[in-house]
Amino acid sequence: MTKFKSFLLLGILICSISCSKSSSDDDADNTTAQVDKSANLLATGDSANDILSNDNFDKLLIEIAYVTGFEPTETAMTQFTDYLKEHTFKEEIELVYNELPSPSEDELTLQEIADLETSNRTVFNSGSTLAIYIYFADAPAEGDDLDGGLVTLGAVYRNTSMIIHEVTVRELASLSASINVSDVETTTLNHEFGHLFGLVDLGTDMVNDHQSQSENEDGQLVDDNHCNQAGCLMRAELQFGGSSGKSLYTNSVTQYEDGIKSGCTLSGATVLSLLQQNTAKGAATAGLDTECLLDIRANGGRQ
Ligand SMILES: [Zn+2]
Ligand SMILES: [Zn+2]
Repeated sequence: MTKFKSFLLLGILICSISCSKSSSDDDADNTTAQVDKSANLLATGDSANDILSNDNFDKLLIEIAYVTGFEPTETAMTQFTDYLKEHTFKEEIELVYNELPSPSEDELTLQEIADLETSNRTVFNSGSTLAIYIYFADAPAEGDDLDGGLVTLGAVYRNTSMIIHEVTVRELASLSASINVSDVETTTLNHEFGHLFGLVDLGTDMVNDHQSQSENEDGQLVDDNHCNQAGCLMRAELQFGGSSGKSLYTNSVTQYEDGIKSGCTLSGATVLSLLQQNTAKGAATAGLDTECLLDIRANGGRQ
């Protein structure tokens, strides 16, 4: 009985702490105002050299913010950190897990994702530590069409920020017997992180031109910050869909109303295609091709 009472008391205490926290946003703003967040609010690719080389930062601190029940697999996180160690000079990579309640949204716009980061992100650059924030969401991206095969698995929208639509990753993996969740997670994480490395021509200059082009809304062919080399992780696939039969480039660079810009929204079709090609070759996940490797090496990367 006493045990029960103390649990009850603890419950009330926790509730009153969290309630008072949420009702005093001004206080929270004042306490976090001392943290300099400006270095983590730049555009995708702006920190490419700082991520790749050890000139200014020698440690990566990566916050894995995930909605309860949508934690990424351990296998994917191991493959992801191996990929970072392979291509950057960072020897020290620390992951911190931050479990979050569901925002209870049916779908998320990039602006909502950026707003969630503002409320939830706890890691920022400090000293020689470069901080990255990755949010694993329980909601799909706005405008997904799973039946039509047009889904967004992940996106980058700032120099150290990324979203993975974990709910969509799992749904997509469940559609194929030969592809598992961790393969889709790893491919999505590594592709999106490729953009934080500045690929392709997104903060890291190209040694040789290997950028692919796609149609914009006006039907003009424009550079699309992806790679045109076969089998490369940074390649994007053209998708044909919609009732008009018009080609839809689903890995798009999109400008949002208030300036939040996505460097890439990665489509499910691209990832499935990459994984299917690699499964055929006997490898689980796709890697960077020679051209992408040349670019990151020229900008301070390992290879
Ligand atoms: Zn991309
Ligand atoms: Zn490439």
